[in-house]
Amino acid sequence: MVRTASKCLAAALLCVSSATQAFTVFACEPEWAALTRVLLPSAKVFVATHAGQDPHHIEARPSLIAQLRSSDLAVCTGASLESGWLPMLQERAGRKVPLFEAADHVELIDPQPGAIGSPWAGDVHAEGNPHLHADPRKLLEVALALSTELQQRVPAEKAAIAQRGQVFESAWRAGIARWQGQAAPLKGKRVAAQHSSFGYLWRWLGITQLADLEPKPGMAPTPGHLQRLLDGLKSQPPSGIVLTSYQDPRAGRWLQERLNLPLLVLPSTVPEEAGQDGLILWMDGLLAALGGLK
Ligand SMILES: [Zn+2]
Repeated sequence: MVRTASKCLAAALLCVSSATQAFTVFACEPEWAALTRVLLPSAKVFVATHAGQDPHHIEARPSLIAQLRSSDLAVCTGASLESGWLPMLQERAGRKVPLFEAADHVELIDPQPGAIGSPWAGDVHAEGNPHLHADPRKLLEVALALSTELQQRVPAEKAAIAQRGQVFESAWRAGIARWQGQAAPLKGKRVAAQHSSFGYLWRWLGITQLADLEPKPGMAPTPGHLQRLLDGLKSQPPSGIVLTSYQDPRAGRWLQERLNLPLLVLPSTVPEEAGQDGLILWMDGLLAALGGLK
């Protein structure tokens, strides 16, 4: 009896200690939370933003500070995407949480050396476009780097993380081949879009973004800017107007009505609680939606 009880107690303690010691990740965006869950399903994952939010601008809420403070690793995009809120969270967390930044592991497109973002100049990304997860080839590079990082930080799961990374890589490579085949007819198409959220998607698929609804990066469209776009686009209408799901759709609708073009509203990332196949489903959805271009 006593032995059984002590066994139970020992098992319970083991249970409690493994529960309290779950490797904890603070993901700045849902795509990195999803990737972490693929590689390390046992991790406890906090997600700072969701697909309905603009990741450039969120409030440094006390709950986020507490989540960051209790995390073993922060997984973020970098390249100044979170410069408006992450440094403040880090400072208020009161401890230096190790930071993995996706942008450190890929070559960014459209660098603007010397450019400085400010509340007046907009969300200018001097290092290059930070919205890199929309190119699945870059996302794979990040996945492999994150796999290495997690293997080092959670040595007890090293082999399992590596194995999950390989399974993800082969499924993702098959996805890339499928998506490229699906998108072949889109090559050469031109779109008008709001912000550079899908700059990597366009570059990958050979689509050109010929106009930006924002007068400056991150600045809301103005009537004067839209009128100028309308005048310019009348003679060379694009195949559609593309918005990101967190953006105010009014400017896109205004232009759409006057040019009689399809308006596509694409999710900028996976749903907050995306499971193992969330990233693949998101990319499947993007490619399916692009079929709506003229
Ligand atoms: Zn941006």
